[in-house]
Amino acid sequence: MKKISVIVPMYNECQMVSLFVETLTSVFANSLPNYDYEIIAVNDGSKDNTLELLKLEQEKNNKLIILDLSRNWGQEAAVHAGLKAATGDCVIPMDADLQDPPELLPEMIKEWENGGEVVNAVRTSRTTDTAFKRNTAGIFYRILDKLSPKVKIPGNVNNFRLLDRKVVNEINALTENNRVFRVQVPFVGFKISTVEFGRRSRAKGESHYPLKSMVSLALDSVTSLSSKPLKWAIGVCVAFFLAFLGSGISELVIYIVNQNTTAFDIGHEIYLGWLIINVILLGFFLISFVLAVFSLYLSKIYDETQNRPSVIVREVIKK
Ligand code: UDP
Ligand code: MG
Repeated sequence: MKKISVIVPMYNECQMVSLFVETLTSVFANSLPNYDYEIIAVNDGSKDNTLELLKLEQEKNNKLIILDLSRNWGQEAAVHAGLKAATGDCVIPMDADLQDPPELLPEMIKEWENGGEVVNAVRTSRTTDTAFKRNTAGIFYRILDKLSPKVKIPGNVNNFRLLDRKVVNEINALTENNRVFRVQVPFVGFKISTVEFGRRSRAKGESHYPLKSMVSLALDSVTSLSSKPLKWAIGVCVAFFLAFLGSGISELVIYIVNQNTTAFDIGHEIYLGWLIINVILLGFFLISFVLAVFSLYLSKIYDETQNRPSVIVREVIKK
């Protein structure tokens, strides 16, 4: 019997604990009777009675495993803790607020049985999000995608995905501290399938993602994905070099045109003006050149410290 691990990070989710566990348990009982399962609830330093409620649930339900984190570490870290503890043949992280519908699990598991090693649950409608969140998310995913020609970052997919055991093992083997799940999953690769769903509103309670946390997750995603922004300094350096070259040529032209004319005085002033601009541009070019060299090495150091595998093999096929 194959085993499915569901990971659910919980931060101040007292209103959702029993509703979530009951909904999920009934999906497994009614639609997935041929699978064993575990629900790994990660209590992420909740300040309400989430933990006590989870313990009460556990008395009724031996499939429920509680990971009680030492403090609030954030959703990404909570999912990471769950991934390390999961023992299933596939693992599905999902939010506690039922915005990720448990009814979708049978469809995701079917895709997995059909060979999908990562099954992304794609939101077809984001009507429950504000127009601001939708638009900024859209632009952000396009930027992320531009940063990573080889790693395709899908838009409209959050943590709600099914991962095969092989994929979980590769993600757990990544050693970086800046763990952004939505970057790590596409990074490790494997066969992607998708299922679609309309995202609902949070069943109960409030969102824990104010603008500040969204911005910080966005920055973590960029730095987790690529050190390319550092190399933008090289572009700035080239721009200053071209500006310096252009102004140098203009200066020379003015000098040659004016040197034998009676209007040399006026030309001389213009020439002096250009000279000052030229010297300033030379200064900026030299500074940006030093920064470009710095950023080149810094990006190498960053890539090395991230210590990601340079290649991942799915399986060795021998005769
Ligand atoms: N969460 C967490 N730690 C945090 C913040 C959130 O474990 O510091 C959990 C939360 O309990 C929920 C999931 O992460 O299960 C997603 O949070 P939320 O629904 O508030 O985010 P939103 O849907 O508004 O983006
Ligand atoms: Mg939510």
